[in-house]
Amino acid sequence: MTNKKIAIIAHDGKKAEMVAFLKDHLTGLSNIEIVATGTTGKFVRQAGLEVDAKLSGPLGGDAQIAAMVVEEQIKAVVFFRDPLGKHPHEPDVQMLIRLCDLHNVPLATNPAAAHFMLKGMIEEGKLS
Ligand code: PGA
Repeated sequence: MTNKKIAIIAHDGKKAEMVAFLKDHLTGLSNIEIVATGTTGKFVRQAGLEVDAKLSGPLGGDAQIAAMVVEEQIKAVVFFRDPLGKHPHEPDVQMLIRLCDLHNVPLATNPAAAHFMLKGMIEEGKLS
């Protein structure tokens, strides 16, 4: 499991919730390698965490992270999707979700689920 990363992605309508989530979980996340889509990555960095920022979602960032899931480089995905927005890269979003399910990679799509996912993984030593 070493060198595997947690992926963090938030659609624009969910970036404020994502920043609040990061602030609430800074301690738990501080020792974990993080990968994010481009704009999300800027917010992660501003929150004081190191991050490997890929392309912005609409330019292929979700697809890059989906490829990392397939290559077993990802421990879990936090993906705060905006259920009220339309997205040009919806096919990439569906691909990422499908590949998490296919490869049994934990995926949380809202802050409540992400909280319990991280808590459970930390308690079971899956993030160390
Ligand atoms: P962003 O991409 O972090 O570059 O905004 C997220 C997304 O829309 O999937």
